[in-house]
Amino acid sequence: MKIIRNIKEMSGFSKKQQIKGKTIGFVPTMGALHEGHLSLIRQAHKENDIVVVSIFINPIQFGPKEDYRRYPRNLRLDTQLCRREGADLIFFPHAQQMYPGNYKTYVNVSDLSDVLCGKFRPGHFKGVATVVTKFFNIVRPDMAYFGRKDAQQAIIIKKLAYDLNIPIRIKVMPTVCERGGLAMSSRNAYLNKEERLDAAVLCQALTLAKNLIKRGNTDSADIIRKMRRLINKKKSACIQYISIVKHKDLEPLDKIRGKALIALSVWIGKTRLIDNIVVSS
Ligand code: AMP
Repeated sequence: MKIIRNIKEMSGFSKKQQIKGKTIGFVPTMGALHEGHLSLIRQAHKENDIVVVSIFINPIQFGPKEDYRRYPRNLRLDTQLCRREGADLIFFPHAQQMYPGNYKTYVNVSDLSDVLCGKFRPGHFKGVATVVTKFFNIVRPDMAYFGRKDAQQAIIIKKLAYDLNIPIRIKVMPTVCERGGLAMSSRNAYLNKEERLDAAVLCQALTLAKNLIKRGNTDSADIIRKMRRLINKKKSACIQYISIVKHKDLEPLDKIRGKALIALSVWIGKTRLIDNIVVSS
């Protein structure tokens, strides 16, 4: 397995593969890999000749008070895991090469970036859309793999690929959870033992919503109220938002009709966690 740090070298590798007629599957990550990431790498391996995994903690998607500096980093373990799962290459670029001092160009997917998490993390999705567009241009993959855990991110990336005519297939794969239901996340490493138990309440609240809808409740405000009541029972939990929106355009839904996304963000102690489900009625 190769590790490439240089952008030109990365592009050169991709060009060579394309000349040979090989397809490239791409899995962008920020590292500190867990089973969620590995499920994407496995899927990419099944569906492509070559698998490229990027590991890049993208500075421009973090707010000034966010955890860029302390975000978990473990390249040695990540390398072992990528090799084990059959990745062919890790692209691990220097931030200075991605964003040199005179860097000026950003990609903004309007409206979709301003709701849900975007409301509380101004500039976050602009940073994500920019880095993913750069990666698509550097790696030139045939397919790219994203997790449903970051549902809003996946919707934004699909939209940018469509709007900017980027010839790529985007695959969104199911969320991988721990035994208690907590969605796997690199940030779970910040949780202490007690918080980790409390954090399962995100998944419990989503399950509650799913069951209410199954029993015929379509009233978003009522469902959100009941989710809030459940989450607020946990001492370490502080809700940032719970929203029920149309899956297609993230517009709010007062009554659940068609395909709806129920998304939430909750602080567990000092750690901000997100999760979501898609329901249909
Ligand atoms: P990150 O390293 O957090 O930026 O995530 C890289 C990719 O892995 C994104 O497409 C995420 O949506 C995806 N991902 C993160 N956590 C999970 C999970 N628990 N299950 C499935 N995919 C995930």
